[in-house]
Amino acid sequence: TLSDRLAATFKNLRGKGRLSEADIDATAREIRIALLEADVALPVVKKFVAAVKERARGEEVSGALNPAQQIVKIVNDELVTILGGETRRLRYAKTAPTVLMLAGLQGAGKTTLAAKLALWLKDQGSSPMLVAADLQRPNAVNQLQINGERVGVKVFAPEPGNGVGDPVAVARAGVAEARRTLHDVVIVDTAGRLGVDAEMMQQAADIRDAVSPDEILFVVDAMVGQDAVNTAQAFLDGVGYDGVVLTKLDGDARGGAALSIASITGKPVMFASNGEKPTDFDVFHPDRMAGRILDMGDMLTLIEQAEKSFDADQAAKAAAKLTGQGGDFTLDDFLQQMQQLRKMGSLSKIMGMLPGMGQFREQLENFDEREIDRIQAIIQSMTPSERDNPKIIDGSRRARISRGSGTQVSEVNGLVDRFFEARKMMMSMAKGGGIPGMPGMPG
Ligand code: GDP
Ligand code: MG
Repeated sequence: TLSDRLAATFKNLRGKGRLSEADIDATAREIRIALLEADVALPVVKKFVAAVKERARGEEVSGALNPAQQIVKIVNDELVTILGGETRRLRYAKTAPTVLMLAGLQGAGKTTLAAKLALWLKDQGSSPMLVAADLQRPNAVNQLQINGERVGVKVFAPEPGNGVGDPVAVARAGVAEARRTLHDVVIVDTAGRLGVDAEMMQQAADIRDAVSPDEILFVVDAMVGQDAVNTAQAFLDGVGYDGVVLTKLDGDARGGAALSIASITGKPVMFASNGEKPTDFDVFHPDRMAGRILDMGDMLTLIEQAEKSFDADQAAKAAAKLTGQGGDFTLDDFLQQMQQLRKMGSLSKIMGMLPGMGQFREQLENFDEREIDRIQAIIQSMTPSERDNPKIIDGSRRARISRGSGTQVSEVNGLVDRFFEARKMMMSMAKGGGIPGMPGMPG
């Protein structure tokens, strides 16, 4: 995953003050691979990576984040922007009914979506109606009727009695019926083919002209990957649409199609379907999708928290010490870092968010947060010279510290040992890469 690979790249970036051209190139390479793995179309990947590099070059170096984290943040921001920024809301007609038209290939999930959308609208107090304008597949009308029944929404369908036999006429009659019966939203389900073809496109365009939809939604199966781009473009040229709905996100698709389509068409992804049940549906969240495409786990949450709570000055001082430029790393620094960590949230949660930290999970689960309180008590029972130079802490000093902090001598010993161990580890991390501010995991 990108997490793993970036963790490796982090190593090379550790400790550097700013983004060098080589750093940017190395990180860009990993991001490029990750996007291709997520099935993002190549031209989109190229354009995206170029934009990220451009931004990375212009970026000021943040105090709270290391260079690689900073690039990840840029990547994420860029992804979210392309995917539509804030969730795009449905546009309702000034005069009811609002007409929504669904377009897309056969099997994309239009008929399923029609019912989901209807239920969602109903839950918001609307009174939607479904129109079965897919007369292509023998069972299509019946399928919509069944779906409509499941969510308790009226379905307008051609019947021997109501005199409509072609999809354009059905769509027109359906909207008229909705107006007459005071339904405020009409959802027009249309036919699709397995592949794009001119006749189908024309039919969709004719339905569009007949009902003047307020929103045309292009429905696309997220599992189709690379091909989605061609289909999306064909529908954009042939019918046009205002927004995209991704379906089958419950599958294992990484969601590259979302980025490809949004980037190439400039249309926002508005809704997401993630299952066959009517409730398996939500408005689209660009930030969540960005996380899924990059497969960054909770890395971004961590970055956010780090930015909020990290004291840049303190971090710079600690970093300088670790690289041997600001004197020795002392017990005071150790304590400060512990407190810094706690500010960022529960230590174990934080550790769990970091890529590559899975191996420590067991240790983390056994970690007692109160440990930090004890560490604090012990260190605060030391004299300044003991904190600066823990080597002088001999047997009698240990006994005094343990009495002062109300702990066992063995705990004082444990802490001092751990401190030396942590210092060693941090020194090597500072040289060879690793995670900043993660000293002395007790355990
Ligand atoms: P249409 O041809 O575009 O109308 O597509 P349908 O609505 O008939 O859906 C085609 C198939 O995909 C059906 O078997 C649906 O149950 C299934 N389907 C639709 N949406 C989803 C989804 O979000 N997740 C999953 N797993 N299946 C879906
Ligand atoms: Mg259908």
